[in-house]
Amino acid sequence: MSFFIALLVVFLIFLSVMYFLSIKESIEKEGIYTGFYHCPEKWRNILNQKVSFYKNLTEIKKREFEFKVQKFFKDYRIIGYDTSIDITDRILVAAGGVIPVFAFKNWKYSTLEVIYIVSDDFNDDFKTGTENCEIAGKVTGRYMYLSKPSLHFSFENPKDRFNIAIHEFAHFIDFEDDEVDGFPNKLLGKNNVVEWYQFLKKIALEKKREMQNRNFIPNSKKGEIRDYAFTGLGEFFAVMCEYYFENPESMKEKYPEGYRILHNAFSSKMKLEFTLPNMMNLKKNTKCPCKSGKRYKNCCLT
Ligand SMILES: [Zn+2]
Ligand SMILES: [Zn+2]
Repeated sequence: MSFFIALLVVFLIFLSVMYFLSIKESIEKEGIYTGFYHCPEKWRNILNQKVSFYKNLTEIKKREFEFKVQKFFKDYRIIGYDTSIDITDRILVAAGGVIPVFAFKNWKYSTLEVIYIVSDDFNDDFKTGTENCEIAGKVTGRYMYLSKPSLHFSFENPKDRFNIAIHEFAHFIDFEDDEVDGFPNKLLGKNNVVEWYQFLKKIALEKKREMQNRNFIPNSKKGEIRDYAFTGLGEFFAVMCEYYFENPESMKEKYPEGYRILHNAFSSKMKLEFTLPNMMNLKKNTKCPCKSGKRYKNCCLT
């Protein structure tokens, strides 16, 4: 009899080990971050105050957003280029990176490494305060550059269809198929790429008509679809992404075809339920989860 009990116990242990391994495997396959996640109260306050996309989420989706912010800090480095940066700057950069891909279960900008924060709008040599300093954001290879004031402006005006962080991250999404050509093939899928081209042609014609009566102002932050969108195919996609994430209601009404294509692309990957890892309290002396390099007690705890 005891032999059978022993056999049963061994069998049960075997089953539970197999079960654990299969969970582990499926977790790894789906690429879910399995560790704990942290969200200091400070992050939550900043997100609630400054990021309207986050503010409008349900409580459970807010937790998911926070988790993705922490994952963002793990995946990429955020560095002050010619200025010091604080946790608000970090959170805004992360929010800009999380928002476009929020519906995707697991996403990594595969070519991005560092986001540099520049003290002001800059010129082609990343200088500020001299002539032609009109660049708010730029992407070169594995690096992204964002002007600090333009980053803050982007989130302070959540409905104006200008968000330099979303714009630059859209370029990285576009780049996932190795070309910043305004046609993110992987994201849109074959059929939508064709439709996107037709949509673009139609909008470009409308713009041409409108342009007969005024000057082209590529650096203006204003306009239903601001002029900058027409400086290149990649720019058209990036500007439309800003529009879609900042003011989807307006886009749906005014540009239903474009809205539908982007909506399909950005929400279709949502099929799987996201399971949130456990939240854990941080010890005062551990390194801060915002990756500033400081200890938690000297950084986001205060
Ligand atoms: Zn651009
Ligand atoms: Zn911190």
